[in-house]
Amino acid sequence: MKVFNFSAGPAMLPKEVMERAKNEFCAYGKSGCGIMELSHRGSEFTEVIQRATSNIRELMKISDDYAVCYIQGGASLQFAMVPLNLTSEKGIAQYVDSGHWASAAIKEAKSFVETEVIASSKDTNYDRIPEIIPEELAEAASYLHITTNNTIYGTQYHSFPETGIPLVADMSSDLMSRVVNVNQFGIIYGGAQKNIGPSGVTLVIIRKDLAERLSRTIPTMLKYKTYVANDSLYNTPPTFAIYMVALVTDWMKAKGGLAAIEKINDAKSEALYERLEETAFYKNPVEPASRSRMNVVFRLPSEELEEKFVKEAKTNGMIGLKGHRSVGGIRASIYNAMPLEGVETLIDFMNSFEEKNG
Ligand SMILES: *Cc1c(COP(=O)(O)O)cnc(C)c1O
Repeated sequence: MKVFNFSAGPAMLPKEVMERAKNEFCAYGKSGCGIMELSHRGSEFTEVIQRATSNIRELMKISDDYAVCYIQGGASLQFAMVPLNLTSEKGIAQYVDSGHWASAAIKEAKSFVETEVIASSKDTNYDRIPEIIPEELAEAASYLHITTNNTIYGTQYHSFPETGIPLVADMSSDLMSRVVNVNQFGIIYGGAQKNIGPSGVTLVIIRKDLAERLSRTIPTMLKYKTYVANDSLYNTPPTFAIYMVALVTDWMKAKGGLAAIEKINDAKSEALYERLEETAFYKNPVEPASRSRMNVVFRLPSEELEEKFVKEAKTNGMIGLKGHRSVGGIRASIYNAMPLEGVETLIDFMNSFEEKNG
């Protein structure tokens, strides 16, 4: 049976990419070795990391003012690296609280800097992207941090705040899923494991002047400038994960780039939201204007039915549909690698489940 994987992350990778990695696994190119067995300073891996970077630069239209870095420690380490590198001990940082990961970023920053939450949707159970009132933005703040897609609550920014201060974005769950203007941001970061590769590497796109801002004493491996100055090769980077990012970004280019991928992502999410609107059996708790195109969340009339839904979906070849343990319900994560066919299969299953149980 064909299996469609709706996991939130680590998430499915494009089938073509998995096949290519399999074929190259034991012998990369003419080397006779697997890529993860080769020196990170050798010619083979040098070509791989340079290809990953040039693919990302091309796909996202990144200017020379920005550096592309590969860092370990996940998005969770960025929650600390951002305040450590961008603020002084007496500084202020501003945050928008739009869900679980945004709150985690705020909590971490509080250890290092005075932190102001200028907008939050906590009171409405994170059912929307909170509105930012421009007067709340402090010119004295070192940056404003947002979470562009809220993986657990199924909300997403569809436009970004204009700020006079650097905008820092956790894009872990919608990185390279749509066209964004990188010039609007000071830093964009995200773990690879949702849209662009396996876990183990975090992509950080940073305006070069911000990497120079550091005014504290921090470990070498936590300084952005270490990565910028050494093209992420100060020490051994996660070579296999970066190799996979090169393959996924090759695949994105072959698909026609981010505008083409965005179109497919729109079609997938619109089909699901349309289905959710047609019925009272399934309920999407998110404000329509804040709906995520990556993580579509919904509830059934009871927790028993939700459990049954997840179980029967699994026997029908659809896995990873259980909502995050903190919120329950159902979550269909439909990142770049999920084909339209997977979403159509899910909708057919939703129809027959409702017929039997509605
Ligand atoms: C998954 C996720 C994280 C956590 O990422 P790690 O790489 O596990 O640290 C952070 N932010 C968002 C928006 C996420 O979706």
